[in-house]
Amino acid sequence: ASFGFRDVELDAKQGMVDAVFHKVASRYDLMNDLMSGGLHRIWKDAMVSWLSPPSNRPFEVLDVAGGTGDVSFRIVDRSHKNAKAIVCDINTSMLEVGRERAEKRGLADNVTFVEGNAEELPFESGRFDAYTIAFGIRNVPRIDQALKEAYRVLKPGGRFLCLEFSSVDVPGLDKIYDLYSFHLIPQMGRAVAGDAESYRYLVESIRRFPHQERFAQMIRQAGFSQVSYRNLTGGISALHSGWKT
Ligand code: SAM
Repeated sequence: ASFGFRDVELDAKQGMVDAVFHKVASRYDLMNDLMSGGLHRIWKDAMVSWLSPPSNRPFEVLDVAGGTGDVSFRIVDRSHKNAKAIVCDINTSMLEVGRERAEKRGLADNVTFVEGNAEELPFESGRFDAYTIAFGIRNVPRIDQALKEAYRVLKPGGRFLCLEFSSVDVPGLDKIYDLYSFHLIPQMGRAVAGDAESYRYLVESIRRFPHQERFAQMIRQAGFSQVSYRNLTGGISALHSGWKT
């Protein structure tokens, strides 16, 4: 295999992301609530509403970069415990917290946890009814490769849904958001997780992520049809949707 400069750089990025999530895993859910002021719950609910998992026919979802299981739990609840979800994440610390949460919620029969890399999913082609990824894809070094893998593991007719921080499109809100994310988030990271640097990295990764239209174009390039998106809270986050035909 070729191992060029870009590979080294991208692998270093993955290493840094892994270190961040190993460090914060036990406090991750609390930090999410604090930093988004609870908004991440509303955004995840919007994602699951758009997915509308059925309650009356077999439905299997792959929740990539699923971390501590939040999106999967919501999907299973919303389907009245009909759906099965696999949380796939590269980070064993996050998966461990997720497994404990699933047990506590009585969802262990519906949600399973598998270690794996979004760029090289350990699943056969054409298996899943849906692929979800929430606040995960911007951490993946080769986004085009992750999108290709999403396409591969879906059944024909399968659904791709991505929730990610995006570009604020409301004048005024963008200034407030800059102030909040560049100053307050690292400070909260220091106070709660004892670590401002990790959170500064996360904020920067949000800034570098492609805006709504460009990301939609990348999803089309991976082969998906009927690609569309919805802004949430003025574009602080966005939901992208696509179908494998
Ligand atoms: N989806 C969950 C949520 O919304 O609460 C967790 C999101 S968390 C911000 C990002 C997750 O992406 C982390 O659990 C991290 O380990 C995972 N991740 C980072 N790079 C990954 C990769 N290459 N493949 C799979 N997961 C990855």
